[in-house]
Amino acid sequence: MPLTTPRVWRRAAPLLLVVVIDGLRAASVTETAMPVLAAVADAGVSYASAASLVPSLTRPAAAALTTGYLPRTTGIVANTVAWPGHGIIDTGSVGALRRALAGEPVPLGAPGIAERFARSGIRCAVISTGSAGCGFILDPVSAPGRAAAAAGGRVHDPAGPRPAVGRDPASTGRVAWACDTAIALARADAIDAALIWLHQPDDAQHAFGPEAPETAAVLRQVDKNIGLLLTELGAAGQAVNVIVTADHGATSALGRVDVAGDFQRALPQVASLLTVCNNDGAVLAWSGRRQSVPALAEFAEWCLAQPWSGPVFARPSLDIPGTFSTRLIGCDHERLGPDVLITMRAESATARQAAAAWYAADAGDAIKGTHGTISPADLHIPLIMHGPAFRRRLVAGSPATLTDITATMLHLAGLTSSADGRVLYEALAETEGQPLVSRYYLVPGRQRRPDLLTCATVAGHHYILAGQREAAS
Ligand SMILES: [Zn+2]
Repeated sequence: MPLTTPRVWRRAAPLLLVVVIDGLRAASVTETAMPVLAAVADAGVSYASAASLVPSLTRPAAAALTTGYLPRTTGIVANTVAWPGHGIIDTGSVGALRRALAGEPVPLGAPGIAERFARSGIRCAVISTGSAGCGFILDPVSAPGRAAAAAGGRVHDPAGPRPAVGRDPASTGRVAWACDTAIALARADAIDAALIWLHQPDDAQHAFGPEAPETAAVLRQVDKNIGLLLTELGAAGQAVNVIVTADHGATSALGRVDVAGDFQRALPQVASLLTVCNNDGAVLAWSGRRQSVPALAEFAEWCLAQPWSGPVFARPSLDIPGTFSTRLIGCDHERLGPDVLITMRAESATARQAAAAWYAADAGDAIKGTHGTISPADLHIPLIMHGPAFRRRLVAGSPATLTDITATMLHLAGLTSSADGRVLYEALAETEGQPLVSRYYLVPGRQRRPDLLTCATVAGHHYILAGQREAAS
């Protein structure tokens, strides 16, 4: 949509900003680490039990956030996946993703948020500092892959072209660029909404670890830029409804396991029947069209016996002892969903939330921090809302997840959604009280190992809040 198209949306409506901070742990939002964000959380609504998806990886989260649907519909079930007809693809690569999605009637199974908004005349910019694949997932229509700032089918660069990250994992130049771009677009009255995806502190956490001083410096810089963004918009007289969240959290790396390679060496004949993809905190396995139930059961069995495996999920029809159903985590996409999904084992390092987890990667991929597991440190994300649309000084105890943010964004724009999320009414200014939450625990079917999932339900919506290996009896 060209910028000259007459606005359909009400002129007086506040700007809607959704800022996703890649890898930001809920525990990192403190007065000392991120003073601006902590103050915004304190003044507005802050969720105490917001959760990412399982596996807690970037591209599944991006697809869920932009469409409002779980991986069951989007088909983006992990970062590295086996795609029928395309082999193993890295969804961070826009070329591979474009080719794989070219055959899909609707990429990701549903339109992204920018497209939904554009159809109603709401100009939503998608500003991404992440991988080209991530930018493409966030806005498959506008984003040309290099994913700068796209609004309604057009790419803008009011703050200049996106700076290169280079090899510096502590670089925050792009974060500043994204915030500058949003400020420039808002000042030019070129947008009604913006989805801003910041790639830090994820890069720093992988390279240095979530507790490292380098990561702390990156967090301070991200916090400063968000402060600048909100101050500048306020100074320009722009009323803003802002939602700040993360795609997943982070854990310290405990040790590397090449799960795909080790399995190949341990059981070569079985391994030849499967495609196994290491995904840091998770491992996914597919057996192709002719589903080999015995091979999948053998793989799951082998993983369950390893010291590095956390809770294991399997396609419901497989009924493998000791596993949970992939339906529970919304990862049961008919064609693209994994047959078996292993979460890597996380161990609490201290009484604080900080935890360490095994990660699955090829040799040489040494990292200090990881995510993808079902541990609270990876799953628990911040969810902060502030502005005239939201209640003030509220800590919401109800669970919430990424698809709920989409439903809430659509609701704020006066649109309805039939997607997987629920509108977070408890956060809205016109609401009082909080919804009824039922919490419950699950153990695997035909229990082989008493792993435990912590779950909750709100208004018919199910949430996985955490999982752990072998519940204490
Ligand atoms: Zn991420």
